[in-house]
Amino acid sequence: MGFKLLSLYLFLAILALSYLFVHSFVRGRSQHAKLLGILSLTLQVYLLGYLVELNATSLDAMIFWNQIQYFGIPFFPALWFAVSAVYTGRPQWIQGWRGLLVISVPVLTFVIRLTNDFHHWYYASMTLVFLGDYTAMYLIKGPWYLVQMAYVLITLVACTRFYALRYRKAEGNERMQFSLLLWASILPYVALVLVFINFGDLGIDYTALILPPCILLINHALTKYNFLEIKEMARERVFEDNRIGYLLLSKQLKVVDMNPLGKQLLKQLEANNPSIHEWILDDAKHLIKLEKHNKTVSISSQAIENSGYLVSIEDVSEREAILNRLEHLANIDALTQLNNRRSFFEQANQIFEHADRYHEPLACLMIDIDHFKDVNDHHGHEAGDTVLKSLAETMKQCFRSSDVIARMGGEEFAVLLRMSEMDAAHLIAERLRVTVEKESIQHNELNLHITISLGLAVRNVHEDLESVLRRADKALYEAKAAGRNQVRRAQ
Ligand code: GH3
Ligand code: MG
Ligand code: MG
Repeated sequence: MGFKLLSLYLFLAILALSYLFVHSFVRGRSQHAKLLGILSLTLQVYLLGYLVELNATSLDAMIFWNQIQYFGIPFFPALWFAVSAVYTGRPQWIQGWRGLLVISVPVLTFVIRLTNDFHHWYYASMTLVFLGDYTAMYLIKGPWYLVQMAYVLITLVACTRFYALRYRKAEGNERMQFSLLLWASILPYVALVLVFINFGDLGIDYTALILPPCILLINHALTKYNFLEIKEMARERVFEDNRIGYLLLSKQLKVVDMNPLGKQLLKQLEANNPSIHEWILDDAKHLIKLEKHNKTVSISSQAIENSGYLVSIEDVSEREAILNRLEHLANIDALTQLNNRRSFFEQANQIFEHADRYHEPLACLMIDIDHFKDVNDHHGHEAGDTVLKSLAETMKQCFRSSDVIARMGGEEFAVLLRMSEMDAAHLIAERLRVTVEKESIQHNELNLHITISLGLAVRNVHEDLESVLRRADKALYEAKAAGRNQVRRAQ
């Protein structure tokens, strides 16, 4: 009865492990899921061999099926160890010389068990015993069997330690997860002890009984609280997201991986400038104009743990265009395309600071159209607008590009003249006044004529902007009062 139950149990465990293999190995994406899949496969081979061995009646058949189990048994502890190392963030334990060491014992065990007939290092003897309702193989253990046991014990202790360390540090759900993993790595100790003392003297392999629930427990812990897999998927999504181009570079600056947009932008970058290296060796964000492709990209990079760089490249052309447009709207008067009042103050303040440092002479002109209201009244508002635009054009031609010309509001303008003393500035102002006076402004069928009045102030040492403007304004008022169409110097 007990024997049949045991067979049924093994059969069901094999079914469950088949499911687990498909679930983890075929469907899983992360490394630990793949490893868990192979782990369940090796356990399956082991259990299958054990199930048939139990049900065999001849010693030959038993020995054969016992041998089959060893296609799984030796590799089991190594994989068990690998799952815990990878999942607790210690992949280095299964890489390089350590990885070689971890896999060498299983390989030796496999070979020694396969060739046991020649040296009897694994099993000193194999005989049949009859135990009530079933026949079992009685095995006398050889020296390598102890090596294998020691190996199992060492890997198991290492796994328990890995899980325990993470368990202590983890919080919330993660703590729950690592407590399950910890339990799954503690249970096999019980099996080892039972096998070692040959509990009940039944020749039962308790490991085969205890391991399936352990593996299911591990699977439960990994899938129920599947943080790593989710993290990995999230990372993949972000990387594949095509709004930002990503390049993953090795330490030697070779491209290791990239997403489709990264590939496309890299090509365009290289077409414009053959070397991307200069932009990735610092932490700064670089804005680079790709003239050939008429776009602007922003490149930034971050070093990844001393082993490479993640470079992100973003096409910021649209954003740049919007920013430029906004800046234009904030600073430029829509009608005349001159600086507006805000921009005048911003630039003038900077120029004043600069002039203080370098003792640069500055002059300021306030300009107002004479009887402008009449233009509007007689010819309409549109004619007035044409006059304003025309005057703006004339002013642009009259002053240097280093001067700041602005529409301060209505039909009032200000100009900040750089490197200008009183006489020179007066000359320029007078020239503008005459030009405007002579000019004929066309609007539809009309030829319009205007004059302007100008107030001129030269900056005294360390005088502030408001004060200079006030004086220029006062001079303008005096020009108006004196009959308009003239330049007045401020006191
Ligand atoms: P003054 O010689 O004393 O400066 O006389 P004025 O008529 O030029 O001065 P006033 O301040 O009385 O009138 C300014 C006019 O400018 C009134 C306003 O309708 C007009 N104006 C202000 N902004 C604009 C504009 O953007 N377009 C047009 N067409 N007219 C404007
Ligand atoms: Mg006016
Ligand atoms: Mg006015």
